[in-house]
Order: sequence, then C-alpha cells, then structure tokens
Amino acid sequence: MTTVYGVMGYPVHHSKSPAMHNAGFRALGIDAVYGRFEVSPAHLREAIDGLRALHIGGANVTLPHKKAVIPLLDEVNDDAVAIGAVNTIVNDGGRLFGLNTDAPGLVRSLEVAGVPMSDARVVLLGAGGAARAAVVGLARAGAESVVVAARRVESAEALVQDLGRPLASSECELSATGLDKLGAHFSNATLVVQATSATLAGSPSAQPFADALPLDAMNKDAWVTDLVYAPRETTVLKAASQLGLKTVDGLGMLLYQGVLAFEQWTNVAAPVNAMRDALEAGLASRVSQE
Ligand code: NDP
Repeated sequence: MTTVYGVMGYPVHHSKSPAMHNAGFRALGIDAVYGRFEVSPAHLREAIDGLRALHIGGANVTLPHKKAVIPLLDEVNDDAVAIGAVNTIVNDGGRLFGLNTDAPGLVRSLEVAGVPMSDARVVLLGAGGAARAAVVGLARAGAESVVVAARRVESAEALVQDLGRPLASSECELSATGLDKLGAHFSNATLVVQATSATLAGSPSAQPFADALPLDAMNKDAWVTDLVYAPRETTVLKAASQLGLKTVDGLGMLLYQGVLAFEQWTNVAAPVNAMRDALEAGLASRVSQE
C-alpha cells in the first residue's frame, strides 16, 4: 500500500518539500507519495489526530505550527523542545514522535561544504526561530563559542538565556551582542552564520545590512553562510566572496533538513543528489515565475 507523507502549514502552497521528497521516493523506488496539507491553526489538533487515523507515514511541520504541535505529540526529542520547534513527525504505529531536523540539517550542510565545526568560533546574526535552531546545531556539533548578534540586543540575550541550560553539557560558550558591535567578534570568528531575514529577495534592507557588516575584519580562512536561500547568492554572500572568504548558501540547510527527515521515515540513506536536483529545479521555476 502506498505510504502517504506531507507537509502541514498555513499557507503551504509555496513549499518545495513535495518536489524534494517525491524525487527521493522515485529515485529509490519507494512506494510513497508526499503532499501538501493546508491546516489552519484551529484544525491543528484534528490534523495531528488524522495522522494516526489515516496511517500517514510522517509529516513535516512548517509555519505557523512548529511550536503549537509540540504538546500534541506523544514524544518530542530534547533539542526540539529546547529550540521550541518541531519540523518533522515520525508516525511509529500510531505513536507520534517529533524532532527538529533544521539544526542538524544546517550542521550537515556545513560539514559537507568542508566547514570545520569542532572548536568553531561562530558569530550568529539574528535571534529568531532559525537562529535558535542554529545555536543548538552548532553547539551540538562541537563549536567552541557562539556570539548571538541581533539588532535588538535583548532578543539575543533572551535566546542565550533560554538555551544556556539545555546546552550546558555542550561546553559551547554562548554570549549576546548588538549588530553594531561586531568588529572584534568578526576578527576572531571562524564562521559567520547569517540567520536574519534581512537578505531575503526584495528586502529593502538587504544591501544596507550587508554593507554594515565588518566582513573585511575576518580572517581570510573564515567561512560565511547565509540561511536565506532566495536568492541563493545573498548580498552578504556576495560581499564575502568579493573579499575572498569561503561561502555556503542556504540551500544546503533546506536540503539536509529534508534528507534527515527522509531517513527518519524510511530508515534508508536518502538519495541526496536526486533531492537536491528537485529542490534546485523548484527554486529555479519560482524565480522564473517572479
Ligand atoms: P524570524 O522572523 O523568526 O526571525 C527573523 C530575525 O531576523 C529576527 O531576529 C529579526 O529581528 C531579524 N531581522 C529581520 N530583518 C532585519 C534587519 N533588517 N536587520 C537586522 N535584523 C533583522 O525568522 P526565522 O528565524 O524563522 O528565519 C530567518 C531567515 O532564515 C528567513 O528569511 C528564512 O528564509 C531563513 N531560513 C532558512 C532555512 C533553510 O532551511 N535554509 C530554515 C529556516 C529559515 P527582530 O526580531 O528585531 O525583527
């Protein structure tokens, strides 16, 4: 019998996950299909119960449900609780297990690109949901320190305060600063992670945001990544490349959060190249429609 998977969101029409996962199932000859489930917040509980009733193999969860879904599941892993977001649900015979593959997905994407993670000294720009996942992923991957920098320093301080206890065992030093105080941190960093939405296509802040970063203070061996993947070469990545710094775009995180979810559901190694091709084709068609 065909196993059904899907992504729950509201709205959800923009999601590239169906193309990526269906390409993965096709490449391995797995009898499964992945669709979009548009679920309003008022129907989230029924939708989660529906996963059990309909024997849905598993699901991804996107905005606005990533936090609200947590109390509706049977078990949630500790890092997903710390991040405050579940993006993947595994249905194990009616028992729903929630986890977050954004955090390890970012790490996998950086490792595949060749970024040294162990003992990394990281400056993380932004203090929203993606930044929270990034801090947990980086700390678990062995980063020596993460400085969280936000335009409202209190949001960076709150993030560091919140994650200090769950990450206590990681020995990663967490601290907070303002986006206007980056010079010394950039010169000490081995990796800068851009996790704000300032560099999104069409954002009026994209160029001024990049121009204000002291990228020229960075060591020439250092890396810069931007979690934003539309455009793939953001203003920050372009400026970093022009200075000779090594860069990683945000597509890898999107790909590897999907790869890790796929492997949770199927227990087989995901066909990464087929999934990447589908994702790239989906993003290219979106750009040509805009
Ligand atoms: P949130 O809305 O939760 O957080 C956005 C963050 O960006 C906040 O800290 C916000 O600050 C900051 N910010 C926005 N505009 C500016 C600006 N002009 N200058 C400085 N800071 C700014 O979003 P997410 O954390 O969920 O996502 C952030 C980005 O990461 C998104 O654009 C998304 O595309 C990308 N992302 C990529 C993923 C991937 O798989 N590659 C996965 C998840 C996200 P303030 O609070 O002050 O507004």
